[in-house]
Amino acid sequence: MHRCEFCHSMFQPRPQVKRPRACTACQKKRQRENEKAWHSKNKNHFSPLYHQIKKRLRLQEIRKIFNELARCFRVGLTFYRKQIEFPLFEERVLKFFIQPSL
Ligand SMILES: [Zn+2]
Repeated sequence: MHRCEFCHSMFQPRPQVKRPRACTACQKKRQRENEKAWHSKNKNHFSPLYHQIKKRLRLQEIRKIFNELARCFRVGLTFYRKQIEFPLFEERVLKFFIQPSL
């Protein structure tokens, strides 16, 4: 038996729960408390600036991966001595990854 942190009544936790904190009646209260704590700890998470920065980092990562892919591709072109219009390929691949709606 455990004591509920919210209403202080005794309750039998489900066996899957490692650190039981709240009785069934107080689960929603516990969840709200957790969310409140998370939001005050991550205050900037929902600001547009946060998402702009994250998006820029994602695009940088895609660009980095693409550059590596492009390097391998160029080595392949040299190796097989074939003419492929690389700028067109690059443009299409980048459009696909960065602007999937276009
Ligand atoms: Zn309770």
